Amino acid sequence: MTESADRAPGDLDAERPSAARVYDFYLGGSHNFQADREMAKRAIEMWPELPQIMQANRAFLRRAVTFLLDRGIRQFLDIGSGIPTVGNVHEVAQAGAPEARVVYVDIDPVAVAHSRAILAGNDRTEVIQADLRDVDAVLGDPRTARLLDLSEPVGLLMVALLHFVPREAEPEAIVRRYRDRLAPGSHLVVSHATHEGQPDQAGPHTALYQRTGTPMTMRSRTEVAALFAGFELVDPGVVFLPQWRPDPGTDPDDRPERFTGFAAVGRRE
Ligand code: SAM
Repeated sequence: MTESADRAPGDLDAERPSAARVYDFYLGGSHNFQADREMAKRAIEMWPELPQIMQANRAFLRRAVTFLLDRGIRQFLDIGSGIPTVGNVHEVAQAGAPEARVVYVDIDPVAVAHSRAILAGNDRTEVIQADLRDVDAVLGDPRTARLLDLSEPVGLLMVALLHFVPREAEPEAIVRRYRDRLAPGSHLVVSHATHEGQPDQAGPHTALYQRTGTPMTMRSRTEVAALFAGFELVDPGVVFLPQWRPDPGTDPDDRPERFTGFAAVGRRE
């Protein structure tokens, strides 16, 4: 893709920053347009630790997928999967269990186009362009049916996704609709931006995201825990990103709240 030339395919609006492409820039990727880069640079000026926060989020994603593999999960539904970068879910999952299957879902056409390009030839992965809120479109898609057996436990990943769902869209209800279709033993993995810990940063950052097609809603620890209704939270519960089951031998971060994101995993009862 020729993002650097700012040529946009299909239904893509290159003039308007997109959460997927801004995130790609934070992670050092090249699949972003000028509008995305300008917004990301303004955000980083305001909040220099943003790239590290995003890296901590990716590290949590990797640890959570590894944890799910250890719990016997072999099929993953990664919603809001983003633009492929280092340590994608299928790479982590299939490195641990080659038979693992992954369905990626994103609303962003750039994320979907790049995912399709890098996954061509991997017949244990599928990519769907859909809105998380359209549960039937996601779960009823024939590509989902080809790879995921919903009568068996699934790893449902909503990593750095639900803060793009405003309160009026009732994220708890959306999660519940997925939960009701999943077999017991399925796991929900969530990371979520929060104002707790760094309240001064949250306001301006949220204001900047209002300019994207996907404005951001910060949530408290209690609100994030509420997303897990019907799931039993796995130890250590809802914690700041680096605190969720850190790799053995890593030093605890003395200011984990600076990562301004909560992480949690729950098991469907
Ligand atoms: N999950 C990846 C990670 O944590 O590294 C990517 C996270 S990225 C910050 C958020 C992604 O959610 C973006 O790619 C964005 O396009 C997608 N997204 C936002 N709202 C969505 C929706 N309603 N349905 C599906 N995807 C959505």
